[in-house]
Amino acid sequence: MALMRSILLAASQNNWLRENAVNFPFVRRSVARFMPGESLDAAIEAARALEQKNIAAVFTNLGENVKDRAEASEVTRHYIEVLHRIHETGLNAEISVKLTQLGLDLSPDFCFENLDKIIALEQRAAIVWVDMEASPYVDATLDIYKRALAKYPNAGICLQAYLYRTQKDVEALLPLRPSIRLVKGAYKEPPEIAFPRKLDVDENYFTLAQAMMAGQAAGNCIRAAFGTHDVKLIRRLADHAARNGFPKNSFEVQMLYGIQREEQERLAREGYRSAVLVAYGTYWYPWFVRRLAERPANLWFMARNLFAS
Ligand SMILES: Cc1cc2nc3c(=O)[nH]c(=O)nc-3n(C[C@H](O)[C@H](O)[C@H](O)COP(=O)(O)OP(=O)(O)OC[C@H]3O[C@@H](n4cnc5c(N)ncnc54)[C@H](O)[C@@H]3O)c2cc1C
Repeated sequence: MALMRSILLAASQNNWLRENAVNFPFVRRSVARFMPGESLDAAIEAARALEQKNIAAVFTNLGENVKDRAEASEVTRHYIEVLHRIHETGLNAEISVKLTQLGLDLSPDFCFENLDKIIALEQRAAIVWVDMEASPYVDATLDIYKRALAKYPNAGICLQAYLYRTQKDVEALLPLRPSIRLVKGAYKEPPEIAFPRKLDVDENYFTLAQAMMAGQAAGNCIRAAFGTHDVKLIRRLADHAARNGFPKNSFEVQMLYGIQREEQERLAREGYRSAVLVAYGTYWYPWFVRRLAERPANLWFMARNLFAS
């Protein structure tokens, strides 16, 4: 399993595959399991269907490591349009952005200006989430996030439980009243900086989540959201919340579109906060291969698509 994960994560960064694999119909059929379509309209339609089930949406326009200022500015304009569309339609939706798509590789100040333009438009009590990317970006992402949070209390950040450092990052952030989405972590990281064993990642997740919930109850964490499909872990966290008297509607789970749908619906039905990250856009290859790496059994599903007519 670990070897397959490493191979797939290496494949997610392969330029030849990125340019060519996306043209194979069976690959395109496979990605459809994880995203409703490439257009914003398809994402909005999916969000409407989720809303019927009391599930909120978080939109993300796929893309990363933008190397050109004009492209990063275009992405910024796109997210501004997305916020306008959300406000016009009254959808229960938020957005999540990647800083390397907003120009982090070009200049942190330029990237911050782009993020600033986006968050400035979100006047509702809704969070603008910042994704966390591979470890070389963690410090720069946290710096930009802290600048944004000083200006906008509705800025949210994703933190990764597989990194040893995350415990200190949570401790440093809580006094600043952040919103945190905790995930296990999707990139290939060396054992010097990340727990190599899944069991340890899961346990660290539980420890960090408890700190976030306590922070939320004390008013130090505006939103504590758990980005995971791990049903056993979700139940363990929900039990912890109940034992401590934390209200159900402050317990939030975010999942990816198309994964664990029944669990998404169960959480919403039972009065928890359930949200789904709806990805769209044409630059889906590395994101899709990271989804395969999370569950190599997805390769069988892709193989079935190879033979489907
Ligand atoms: C809303 C959201 C936002 C995220 N944002 C980031 C981010 O900014 N940075 C980052 O590094 N990572 C991000 N991730 C990905 C995350 O780090 C994990 O890689 C991913 O969520 C898989 O871990 P898991 O917690 O679901 O647990 P796992 O233990 O990996 O999985 C638990 C169970 O969930 C199911 N499952 C998990 N993944 C899949 C899949 N791909 N296909 C089918 N079934 C699956 C399987 O049944 C599996 O047994 C995000 C995830 C979510 C849900």
